[in-house]
Amino acid sequence: MYTAADNRYANMKYNRSGKSGLLLPAISLGLWQNFGNADQYDNMNSIILGAFDRGVTHFDLANNYGPPGGEAERNFGKMLKEELYAYRDELIISTKAGYYMWPGPYGEWGSRKNLIASCDQSLKRMGLDYVDIFYSHRPDPNTPVEETMQALDSIVRSGKALYAGISNYNAEQTRNAAAVLNQLGTPCLIHQPRYSMLDCWVESPGTSDGKSLLDVVEETGMGSIVFSPLAQGRLTDKYINGVPTNSRIGRSLPNGAIQTKDLSADMVEKIKLLNNLALGRGQTLAQMAIAWLLKDHRVTSVLVGASSVGQLQNSIDALNATAFNTDELQKIESILSQ
Ligand code: NDP
Repeated sequence: MYTAADNRYANMKYNRSGKSGLLLPAISLGLWQNFGNADQYDNMNSIILGAFDRGVTHFDLANNYGPPGGEAERNFGKMLKEELYAYRDELIISTKAGYYMWPGPYGEWGSRKNLIASCDQSLKRMGLDYVDIFYSHRPDPNTPVEETMQALDSIVRSGKALYAGISNYNAEQTRNAAAVLNQLGTPCLIHQPRYSMLDCWVESPGTSDGKSLLDVVEETGMGSIVFSPLAQGRLTDKYINGVPTNSRIGRSLPNGAIQTKDLSADMVEKIKLLNNLALGRGQTLAQMAIAWLLKDHRVTSVLVGASSVGQLQNSIDALNATAFNTDELQKIESILSQ
């Protein structure tokens, strides 16, 4: 039976999610990959418990994580029951609905039917009465935003989630969703966008008045938790000398995982330059990539993935050196713009 480390809160930093009362760890752990049927249960268990022992209180899931979809929630539910049950009130658990989950017209997107049925399914798989954050996983071009947001509001009011969030909404869609949720009296807690040194779309103007997604997140009082901060493993030293067979690319995983085509020769050159810069700062490239995201106060939490406890520990150690001087920032910009 697991007993959490006494010093688990000694070194983690906690940031407030926008204007809410909720503090999230600067580094959170996601279960999109490495928590499905093909993965070793003991390894997942060690990653989750190792994270909690270092103050990672937030675990991010979605109905479709696995593979197959649902399996990450099932595996996490088992760990909750067997190891973490006594610590439920120290945990922030999120899940989402919106991507394909079951056949027929109600198994994906943003209808009230999909979100509410999906939330019930997720709670059953994890053995929970409620999740802390429930997300609309992606905007639905064919459902009025009012309907999707009303479904989030209903889920919160029914006690099945404590907070509402949105993911993958662009700047304009985020503004609209926030306005609807505010009117309903359930302010949007958080946005979950993709953001890394290799993919900075959240910084670009995206609204008619030239605001970026990060600007809108701040303007509407939300926090942000940014996913794939290591560009799915490319912002580490693992692909510098080829593709290891046990890496995400080497394993040819489904559902949006990076493939060989996502690692061009130009990108490997950039990665090598960034890696040298990180080593000069006394940290790994993964650590520098995480620290670089945390320098923006609008980033509440960096949502990492990990396939081993060692990787997770390495990523959490990013918090030992988060400051950048102007010269380092300029060098990074110059490498990224090559
Ligand atoms: P990352 O960019 O952090 O990539 C994680 C992968 O990078 C690991 O599986 C591992 O890959 C490698 N890695 C991690 N740490 C290290 C390290 N320190 N040194 C070397 N290699 C390392 O994030 P993910 O793409 O996994 O996404 C993180 C989370 O974000 C997801 O679990 C999910 O919760 C969320 N997410 C949300 C989405 C959404 O639509 N809302 C979409 C995608 C993700 P390897 O297997 O090669 O060892």
